[in-house]
Parts: sequence; C-alpha cells; structure tokens
Amino acid sequence: MEIKRFLAIFVCLAMLVCTLVGCNVEQVPQASDTPSESIFESDGASESASESDRVIDRDAHKDEDDNGRCDDCGISVLITFDFYGVNDLHGKFEDSDTQGGVDELTAYFRTAYKFDENTVLLSSGDMWQGSFESNATRGMIITDWMNELDFVSMTLGNHEYDWGEEYIEKNAEAAEFPFLAINVYEKSTGERVDYCAPSVLIERDGIKIGIIGAIGDCYSSISGEMVEDVFFKTGSELTTLVKAESEKLRAEGADIVVYSLHDGYGKSVDVEGIMVKDEQIRSYYDPTLSDGYVDLVFEGHSHMNYVLVDSHGVYHFQNGGDNRGISHAEITLNFANGNKVVTEAEFVEASKYLDYADDPIVDELMEKYADVVGAGSEILGKNGRYRDARYLCQLVADLYYEIGVERWGDEYELALGGGFISIRSPKNIAVGDVTYSQLAMLFPFDNRLVLCSVKGRDLQRKFFETSNSNYYIAYGEYGESIRNNIDPNATYYILTDTYCSSYAYNNLTVVDSYDAGVFARDLVADYIREGRME
Ligand SMILES: [Zn+2]
Ligand SMILES: [Zn+2]
Repeated sequence: MEIKRFLAIFVCLAMLVCTLVGCNVEQVPQASDTPSESIFESDGASESASESDRVIDRDAHKDEDDNGRCDDCGISVLITFDFYGVNDLHGKFEDSDTQGGVDELTAYFRTAYKFDENTVLLSSGDMWQGSFESNATRGMIITDWMNELDFVSMTLGNHEYDWGEEYIEKNAEAAEFPFLAINVYEKSTGERVDYCAPSVLIERDGIKIGIIGAIGDCYSSISGEMVEDVFFKTGSELTTLVKAESEKLRAEGADIVVYSLHDGYGKSVDVEGIMVKDEQIRSYYDPTLSDGYVDLVFEGHSHMNYVLVDSHGVYHFQNGGDNRGISHAEITLNFANGNKVVTEAEFVEASKYLDYADDPIVDELMEKYADVVGAGSEILGKNGRYRDARYLCQLVADLYYEIGVERWGDEYELALGGGFISIRSPKNIAVGDVTYSQLAMLFPFDNRLVLCSVKGRDLQRKFFETSNSNYYIAYGEYGESIRNNIDPNATYYILTDTYCSSYAYNNLTVVDSYDAGVFARDLVADYIREGRME
C-alpha cells in the first residue's frame, strides 16, 4: 500500500523535526490499523485520571512540551477524527452492469471501524444529476440517502443547477444538513443566495469543526438560463471570503477548518500524499488559504482521484466521481495546544467496499419513489451490437436532424441537426436489452430541443468546420448542397438544444421549441423502441 510507505517516510521526517526542536516523538500518532479508539486506551503508564472520563477542553489541560499528554494530569490530549469526502456522485445510486451503487458504500460507512461518533461525512458537490432515479426525483432520492447517512454538509456543484434554483431550494428543504456555497450571489440584491450557507460549524466529542463550501469557477459550464439570476465570486474575491469565514469560525472555537470546494486538480495521481507546487494548483485553489486558514481540502468537479499535499502541508483530496471511490482523512488533534497532524490520507477505491453486503437503504428509497422511478426499468428493446460513445453521440445528432425535419421541415430548410453533445459514463451500450435508466445515465441532461436561426458565418465556423470534438452534426441534401458555399450573412436554420443555444459564443437565436420534457435520451429511447438498434 502506497500510503503506508508514505506514512513511514512522514513519521521519520516528523521524528527528525521533533528531535531537532527537542520535543517528544510520542506526539506523532502512529498510523496503524488499530481502531482510532485506541488513543483512549491507557498505554500502561499509571494515570490518576480515567481517560474515558476526560474533559475535552483546551482550557482544562495544557501540553507545553507537546508530548500528547496533559502536563498536569497526564491524560492523553490527542483526539482523532475521520473525514470522508464524496464528490461528483452524479446520482449513481443503483447498481448497474458496469458498477456498484451506493448500497455497498452505505454498508461500508455503516460498518467500517473508523465510522464512529468522531466521523465527519461531507460532500463536495455534483451529487444528483446523472442517473434516471436521481434525475426523475430531481435529486431527492440522493438527498434522502445523504440524510440517512448523516452527511454534515454538501457543497453545491455546477450540476446542482441543472434543473434550476427551484430544485436546489426543494432539496435544501428536505436536507437535514446545509448546502454550502460561500460565493453564490444573487444578481438582483447582491446578497448571498439564501438556499445555501457559507459554512457550518459542527461539534464532535466537544471539539468544534468548521466546514466552508465554495463552488469553483464553473459558471460557464452551467446552462445559461439556469444561472441567469446568480453570479459566482471567484479568484481573489473568493479567497477574501474564505479567509474571513475561516477567521470567524476560528473565533467561534473551530479547532479544525475544512474547505469543501467544487473544483479540483486536473490529473489523477496514484501516489497518495504526493507533494505539489503552488503553481500546480493555483488555477483552482489559492495556496495562501493553506497558510493557517484551512486544514484539509476536499475537492471535486474534475472527476480525478488523488491525495495531494501542498507547500504548506495541507492535504487535498478528490475521489474520481461516479461512485468510483471515497476520500478519507484521519486527523489527530492535540486539544490542549491545538496542534494537528494528518495521520492517514487515502483514496478508498470502490473495489474496497464492493464486497460489502447491500445495505437495504437503496431498496427502501426505490420503494419510496416507486411511482416516479418505476419507469426507469422499462425495457425499451434490444441492442444488436456494441455501441460506443461516438456512435451514440452521432445518433443523437442524427435524431435531432430527423425530428427537426419532421416538425419544421415544411416551413424551414434545415441546414443541420446536432451541436455540443456529451455522453456520461459508462459511455457505451452493450449488446442486449436496453432500459430507460441506462439511457438516462448516458444522457442525463435535460436540455430542451430548439429550432434556431444562425448567420452563415457562425454556421460555418462553429458547426460545419468546428475543431471541437464534442460537436456532432447531421444533415441531409440541403445541408450537403450549402456546406461548401455558405453565404456568411444569410440566415440558416438548425435543430439543436438549449445547452448549445445558450452558449453565447454560438450566436444562435431560438425560433421555436420542441415539446417540453423531451430530451436527447427520449429520442434515443424511441429509436430503440422502434427496433432500429437491433
Ligand atoms: Zn461532476
Ligand atoms: Zn462539477
């Protein structure tokens, strides 16, 4: 295990540092497989005070020599907390052919020996969007699951905005934990939006822990119409907010301040606890926050997995997303003098919990929402051969063109159908029966189909000749006839969706909208129902 090797090096370094500054090496708790409760056990020295009755109060004990024991009464003044971070779950609630759901993860949380009263479970965003059952309940099934597991907070991700603020508010009402986003502001009032808090202060075993949440600089990745009333403070403005919030939390007694950020490092890293330079993380995180303001950072959005250590020794975690794993940090606090050490830092891969028995919570919640989620198990038809991402994205473009001609063909000559088409994991369809749930996982986006007008120059540059590999287009005879001699000033018509039309750079004007509630996945569903994929 890489982490063991890292910790061995870490402990050696810590011993060296302690020797240099003349303190007792016992202050460095040993990373081990023994339960965290072991710090409560007597290590054989005769002590007058029983440690199980100890008063966890900074003012009641002191540890000036920093040996982990009270200078007066001798009891251990070390206390261990386990933080688990979940990011970018994207609604991966039920088992699928390609991966597990949250039933095994729930079982892991409920039975893992580190999961006790000193555990803190938090989320760094993008929890709801991405599966049929979660989309159909507008995230509610995931929020219920998070309630069940006693999550302490959830930072808002860009995808929490996929169905508009209305559904964030509804989920916030149902959630027994706060939604966090220190930097989401209302355009009309200039005030922070009221469905989320900048931070939360929780208490574990008498110790206060502050958690600050922020959404990253991902405003542009949200469909424009969903965020037209809000703006995100980013860059130095965000740093100022987080620093002030940290100072406030520390003043309220927080010994540990965690930053839960929906933004992250751009690469997965196999080695746990690897050092990064400031410039490697500056694009999404201001390293000056690690200078005393935050003690741990749980990240998200980039769907990478890593455990990084920045130049100030602060750990950064992310766990891949889509239920591919969870982040775990164990931090040992000396409550007498406030010193903290990260004693374990790991990326817990899903393979470590997939063997756990299914927790009944998934079935219970599926039952609760049966009316809404039942339709997901409908078998649409057969798929006769393996379909990869390219095939499926092109199919969506073909179907956009097809329904565009069908609906508006008499009135408008359609130059093309398609646009920016994105597919989610598992990004393919295997041979066999296909359910609506499967399609909802591949195409979770609720972007309405729209007929748009476009100037020739934009049609040419942004569609026919785009270098963006996410753009897929389909056209018929008319498109074929014009594509090589487009009049830059003439007006043409295309069938796309609101993700593409609300992207200002495309210069599209919506002329008409297709039926409400029909999205890319519904066109593919009909295609399969008609037996066209057999
Ligand atoms: Zn995400
Ligand atoms: Zn995101």
